[in-house]
Amino acid sequence: MAYDSENIFAKILRGEIPCNKVYENQHALAFHDINPQAPTHVLVIPKGPYVSNDDFTASATDAEIVGFFRAVGHVARELGVADPGYRLIANTGIEGGQEVPHFHVHICGGRPLGRMINPAG
Ligand code: AMP
Repeated sequence: MAYDSENIFAKILRGEIPCNKVYENQHALAFHDINPQAPTHVLVIPKGPYVSNDDFTASATDAEIVGFFRAVGHVARELGVADPGYRLIANTGIEGGQEVPHFHVHICGGRPLGRMINPAG
C-alpha cells in the first residue's frame, strides 16, 4: 500500500491541522487521541511516511525505530501510566482495524483495561 500524504496524521505533522501535543523528538510526535477510549489515550506517530507497523519495521532506519520506541516509553512514563501499567496497540491493516494509514501506536491506561481483545470483534 502506497503512503497517502493527505492522511490526517500527515496533515498534523505538517502543521495543517492542530493536535494536543504531549511530546516530540527528532523521529516521533505524541498527541492526545481525539476520541479517547481510556482515561489516558495518547497516540505516538513516526515523523517519516510509513503506512503501518508492517511498513515501518520493514523500511524505517534503525535511528527512526529507536527514536520512535524511545519516545513511546518516555511518553508512557511522563503520563504516569508506566506503573501501574498500560496497553500499547498498533492496529495494522484491514483485519487489524487500522483507520488512519500512518503508523501509530495507542498508549491506553488510567484504569484496568480488561481483556486484550473483544470476543465479539
Ligand atoms: P486506528 O483505528 O488505530 O487507525 O486509530 C486511529 C485513531 O486516530 C482513532 O483512535 C481516532 O480517534 C484518532 N484520531 C483521528 N483523527 C484524529 C485527530 N485529528 N487527532 C487526534 N486523534 C485522531
